[in-house]
Amino acid sequence: MVKAVFPGSFDPPTYGHLNIIDRARGIFEELYVVVAVNRQKTGLFTPGERLALLQELLEPYKNVSVHLSDTLMVNFARSHGCKVLVRGIRSVPDFSYEFELSIMNKGLDPAIETIFMPTDPKYFVLRSSAIKELASFDGDLSAMVPPNVATALRDKSKVWDQGIPRT
Ligand code: ADP
Repeated sequence: MVKAVFPGSFDPPTYGHLNIIDRARGIFEELYVVVAVNRQKTGLFTPGERLALLQELLEPYKNVSVHLSDTLMVNFARSHGCKVLVRGIRSVPDFSYEFELSIMNKGLDPAIETIFMPTDPKYFVLRSSAIKELASFDGDLSAMVPPNVATALRDKSKVWDQGIPRT
């Protein structure tokens, strides 16, 4: 009976994130999806907007809950009785970054384990940063993000478009 945390910026959530969540919720008793608030970085979506998008998407999953946190992930995990941090891996550069992060987290709290899940090959090119760029050019996002996220991205592009004529 192990509980796990899946932290990320989710700016915005993609089908790649949802695939990891769907697989992890089948393994762990409870999964805490955490929008990690980074004080140094402002995203396209506010932390509250990301939380609301994830809540809408994950509402059907009874053993998944969504949270906002601006604390260290090992502290969040410990205070919620979670022993595992789940991280998705898309590529070798992802692995080398995540490996170092896992060593740092192990040093902060040796009782918390990091578990890596390789991406489903269907989603290995999905990256929130690339999706935001595509959205700014009105690209087709339907294979990358769920409909509520595509709508939210379109609403953001309307704001970008104000006063900027498309050529
Ligand atoms: P990004 O901005 O890189 O998309 P996040 O910080 O929101 O990522 O990512 C949260 C977690 O989800 C990380 O462990 C990341 O590696 C993982 N992740 C993101 N996109 C994918 C994907 N397409 N497939 C698998 N894991 C992913």
